[in-house]
Amino acid sequence: AAGGHTSAGNESIRVVVRVRPFNDGEQTYNSTGSAVEVGDDHRTLQLRAPNMDERAMTFNHVFDEGATQTDVFEQCGVKNLVEKALEGYATTIFAFGQTGSGKSYTVTGEKNFEFDAYQSGLVLRSLRYLYDQVTERSHIKFDIKAAYLEIYNEHVQDLMSLTNTVSLPVRFQASRGFYVENLLVLDCHAIDDCVAVLQEGLRNRTTRAHQLNEHSSRSHSIMTVYIDTEQPDPNGGKPLVKHGKISFVDLAGSEKVRETKSTGETFNEMLNINKSLLTLGNCISALSDPKKRGGHIPYRDSNLTRLLADSLGGSGLALMIACVSPSGRHASETLKTLRYAQRTK
Ligand code: ADP
Repeated sequence: AAGGHTSAGNESIRVVVRVRPFNDGEQTYNSTGSAVEVGDDHRTLQLRAPNMDERAMTFNHVFDEGATQTDVFEQCGVKNLVEKALEGYATTIFAFGQTGSGKSYTVTGEKNFEFDAYQSGLVLRSLRYLYDQVTERSHIKFDIKAAYLEIYNEHVQDLMSLTNTVSLPVRFQASRGFYVENLLVLDCHAIDDCVAVLQEGLRNRTTRAHQLNEHSSRSHSIMTVYIDTEQPDPNGGKPLVKHGKISFVDLAGSEKVRETKSTGETFNEMLNINKSLLTLGNCISALSDPKKRGGHIPYRDSNLTRLLADSLGGSGLALMIACVSPSGRHASETLKTLRYAQRTK
């Protein structure tokens, strides 16, 4: 089923593609129509660009230019992910693609924090659904918290604190898996508390981006909502306690994957951004192969994959949204994004 998730085989990681509409500049440049052809079944996609003889590729779903924010939320099984997080699973939503392909639009939406039925992105929609579910499940005690961080050049930085600019260490404990030491994790009794975390994090991300050139397109940001639940045991025994979470990940622009002739800090940055994206690809590709899934998965090779290890492997559930431009001008970047997404299927 389109929205269904099972934790067996590669169904625990679903991969969809979203083609954004042309922007004004592209429309005047490209009079020949979209370079990306979406199949009628909305599962296949073919690149139509000069010198590009690409076969159709298949995904769990392909959204064309006309897809709305509501369509993406409804048809990617995001409600199911939220429900799983409420039941104690670790879940993740990733957006991947070149800068300008619609990752932020899809995940965080336009930077207007009033809920907007048309424009709001996956974070606000998921939060709404989460808090509605909490109200509905009145017999369960909920404790919801949120944190927002970014990984830049393998340094983990807290987006809830602009003053704390040191890189926070990523540690491992058998009982809790990988975690970030000293990360601010804020209580979110009501949806507005969660929205405030999103808003503050995005603002701090923008501030840092002004201090460091091109920073935000080169960093990965992760907003995590932790959901602890306590359910009374009908037989009078100990209450049933569960720890679930949902992470919203806006990955660095994939165009940085290419080789660079840069030197110094920038070159280092490139290597480290490559490291996280390449390791993520390697982990997901190994996890998607039933023969490899039980074997060694290289989570430890990057901070991004350390922090997402529990959503990627085990009983975790992940949704990868590959974002692409319809423009022929971006066809080679689009091809790279699609190939990366194919590996993760
Ligand atoms: P990225 O995060 O990948 O760099 P953005 O999300 O910032 O890209 O998108 C680039 C521009 O395109 C933004 O102005 C955004 O509002 C617009 N955009 C992206 N996707 C869509 C869409 N599906 N519908 C309308 N506008 C979009």
